[in-house]
Amino acid sequence: MTHAPDPRTDDGAHPRVPIAGYANTWLRNPAQALIQRPLTRTERTGPGHLATKLPLGAGNLALDPDGRAALGQLIRVSGQVLDGAGRPLAGALVETWQANAAGRYRNPLDTRDAPLDPNFLGNGRICADDAGRYEFFTVKPGAYPVPDSGRWWRPPHIHLSVFGPSSLSRLVTQMYFPGDPLNLQDRLIASISDPAARERVVARAVDTAEVEGEFLAFEHNLVLSGGDATPVLP
Ligand code: FE
Repeated sequence: MTHAPDPRTDDGAHPRVPIAGYANTWLRNPAQALIQRPLTRTERTGPGHLATKLPLGAGNLALDPDGRAALGQLIRVSGQVLDGAGRPLAGALVETWQANAAGRYRNPLDTRDAPLDPNFLGNGRICADDAGRYEFFTVKPGAYPVPDSGRWWRPPHIHLSVFGPSSLSRLVTQMYFPGDPLNLQDRLIASISDPAARERVVARAVDTAEVEGEFLAFEHNLVLSGGDATPVLP
């Protein structure tokens, strides 16, 4: 099967797909040329007010519903959701999913011989505030090997989905941690040809002297479109 060229990849700011050894890029990208259709009010404005229609989490993945702590390094991830003009997107819905500290997902498809953490689900849903700022606590995910890929390991990363004001402003991406040596080998990062765009998937570590609390903090803005857009990563 040959995938259709994705117009988003032309400027080098988004990955070239499919990515060898990463099965998700076959399943999560169109296999045929995109069909242009007129944009109606529905696409431009909906679905609205998702944060009031979907259950939100408390913004702390590191504690289970009974308050039991997950294993791992406690971290805070925060930032701003912005549109292509740099304007904050108040009320944007941010969904997150990740592996646990041992690099295992709580998912039947992840059958690797790494331990599950009974106190860690790994999924969250939060809402950006009036200034477009989002924040959640979690544990730092572990790296994991990609099956049948020639010993390629995914670096620690957090999957993020953002719904802006309409279905046209959805972003699905992944956030990486600064300085991780596996970032240099990651085939998803490598599939983004523009070096500046590659930087936009790596979070900024906040100086520990600026953090009041026993967690490491990372700042990561999510830009939904435009020249500074956060690259799409499946
Ligand atoms: Fe992953």
